[in-house]
Amino acid sequence: MPLQTLDDLFHDTLRDVYYAEKKLTKVLPKMAKNATNPDLQKAFKNHLSETEGHVGRLEQVFKLIDKPARGKKCDAMDGLAKEGEHVIEEGEDETVLDAGLIASAQAVEHYEIARYGALVGWAAQLGNNKAAALLQKTLDEEKACDELLNGLSGDINAAAAAPAEDEEEEAA
Ligand code: FE
Ligand code: FE
Repeated sequence: MPLQTLDDLFHDTLRDVYYAEKKLTKVLPKMAKNATNPDLQKAFKNHLSETEGHVGRLEQVFKLIDKPARGKKCDAMDGLAKEGEHVIEEGEDETVLDAGLIASAQAVEHYEIARYGALVGWAAQLGNNKAAALLQKTLDEEKACDELLNGLSGDINAAAAAPAEDEEEEAA
């Protein structure tokens, strides 16, 4: 659709993020299933239920601007999901797989943070404070998820760096 006004851009980006969030409701269960660290599994499961909420909030925002809730293919999220699947398919060592899953998930969160950051700014600029507030709530949850993953990455990366030694110790 032609992007002539900031309203058009807002609507177009809303459709992009709507597609991305719906895609994530299918990707996150796979990530939770394949993660081996129990805290990481839990983080993915929790974020799945948050993500379902993000879909719902976007539907509320579509209503606020009188548009049907309809997604638009997001090549970025499709690509990030593909890269995550590659980690799952190729990851042989459990801790290396977990480290890869965290990095893939953070790439997704960073994409969402960038998109929601823009949407919040545009909604405020357009005077749609209700939409801005809804989108800000989601933005806050994306940032919290990113920080949680950051916190988990310390131990998991350390374990991934020394898998062979751990196995030797276990065997001894
Ligand atoms: Fe989200
Ligand atoms: Fe997210």
